[in-house]
This record gives sequence, structure tokens and C-alpha cells, in this order.
Amino acid sequence: MESIREQLLILISTPIYMVIIGVEILLSNYQHRRLYTWKDTAANIYLMLLNGALDLLLRAVYFVTLDYFYRHNIFSFSHVVVYWVMLLILEDFMYYWLHRFDHEIRLFWAVHVTHHSSETMNFTVGFRSSVFQPLYRFIYFIPLALMGFKPLDIIFIYSATQIWGIFVHTELIKKMGWLEYILVTPSHHRVHHASNAKYLDKNMGMFLIIWDKMFGTFQAELPEEKYQPIRYGLTKPLEKETPVTIVFHEWIQIWKDVTRTDITWKEKWNYMGQLVIYEYADGFKTGSQQNGLGIQRHVKKHQLMCAVVTVEVFPVV
Ligand SMILES: [Zn+2]
Ligand SMILES: [Zn+2]
Repeated sequence: MESIREQLLILISTPIYMVIIGVEILLSNYQHRRLYTWKDTAANIYLMLLNGALDLLLRAVYFVTLDYFYRHNIFSFSHVVVYWVMLLILEDFMYYWLHRFDHEIRLFWAVHVTHHSSETMNFTVGFRSSVFQPLYRFIYFIPLALMGFKPLDIIFIYSATQIWGIFVHTELIKKMGWLEYILVTPSHHRVHHASNAKYLDKNMGMFLIIWDKMFGTFQAELPEEKYQPIRYGLTKPLEKETPVTIVFHEWIQIWKDVTRTDITWKEKWNYMGQLVIYEYADGFKTGSQQNGLGIQRHVKKHQLMCAVVTVEVFPVV
């Protein structure tokens, strides 16, 4: 029954994806906006296939792990509506932290960076997965299993909210009215994919935007007159885009950093996990190339305009 439910989800969502992607491509051509490029779309499909294969391979592992914890659950829900609503809210909360740590810890950023390296914004970017995330994503859902949520229900809600997570990758929908206060919308997620300093590491939620508002990572999309046009992609774009570098470039950089002979072990550790990697023109150092938090702290400390900081970023060599 449960697996039929997930198949049904795929059966319903696949034609919807095909229609919205088709409409977006047509509008993109009609309005002469370069929302799609062949190279980018091919990379999105490639990353989706890699991630999908790994996810499939690991399904048994994460199902057995979650099932183990479910057998030792501490609560049980008697009301079915309360059960599903609580699962949706709590799973989205856990996803927020998974995504936030993916941005703030360099080892995880090295995995998640693949989702951010597209310089366009369209529905297919939603499929541009963090290839190795299935290796550890389920760990964030262990508390849910312990709380009495069934593993298959956890996996089902993840797949269901992911549909929304894909839908928010578009430039065609500007604002969604009152929904902007509750849900993650295309406007919020455009900010998430922007490499403009003010927008870095913002709006991490998948379904509800409330977590970003509660934990200080919310940033509204600002009109161009008030800020800058959005620049999608990484603050430091890939030098060479190949099937290998697109997945491993941050790992390669981490390896280069930790094998340096002129630094201490503490510095090596910092290169892997902490927020000290990049150095600015004024001597300031911060974490992964996308590390907006480092930049924000720096901006706060020195009371500089964000834009001034981003253009000066360069790696320590
Ligand atoms: Zn992200
Ligand atoms: Zn995204």
C-alpha cells in the first residue's frame, strides 16, 4: 500500500513536471529570455541521474536504519490528522537544518555545491541534486522515527515536499501573495540561488519559510532599484566544467587545502569544516566559497556594504 502511494506520487508529478518545463521553455523563447541553456540543462539531468541512482542504492540502508529507531519509538499518535501534520512540520524543520549545515560546513557544502553551480534558474535546476546527499540525509530523519513516525511515511513526505521544492525553481512566478508569509516561494528560492552578498545562504527551507524567519536566515527578494539584479551560481564559478569537476570540484579544493605543508593541523581542520578558508583583500578570512554567514559577520563587524565584500573575495593560495 505504502509503496503504491509513492508510485502514485511519481505518476502524478511526472506529467506535471513535463508540462511546466515545456511551458517554461516556450515562454523563455517567446520572451527572448535566456532561462535555459543546453549545457546547463544537460548538467541538471546528469546530476539528477547520479543522485537518483545513489538514492536507489541506499534505500535499503536508510529504511533499515529508520526502521530500527522506529521500533524504539517514544511516542505514538492516535489521531491521523495530527500525525500527518506533525510529520510534515517536523520533517520540514529537520530538512531546514540539513540544508543549513550543508551551507555552513565545508565538507557538506562540497556535496551541496552541485545544486548551486547553475547560472540559470528554471524548473530543471530543481532536479540538479546534491549527488551524495542520500549518504547522510536520513540521519536527520532519525529523530522523527524515534518520535513514532513510520519510515515509509517519512520517505513519502520527503518526496511530496520535494515536488514543491522543485516547483520553486523558476523566474516566471514573481510573488505568490499571502503564501509568501508561510511557504517557500519561487521568489524566496531565487534569493537562495543568488550569489549576491546580501542573498548568500538565505532561505534554506524546502516547504515552509517560517524556519528561516525564526532562525535568522530569511531574506526577501528586493526590487532592482533597491539592491542589484540577481546573479545565479557560485561566488567563484567553476574554472573548468567537466562531468568530474562539476561533482568533485570543492572536494578537490579541500584536498589541495588540507595537503598544504605550510599550515598547522588546526588550520587543516578549519579548511575541512570550519568557516576559515577564504581571504579577502583586507585580510579577512572566511569559509567555503559560498559562505554568506562569514561574509555577513564580516559586514557586521566592519560595517561595510555587502557588495564591496563579495567582489574582493579570492582564495588563499
Ligand atoms: Zn542550498
Ligand atoms: Zn534550489
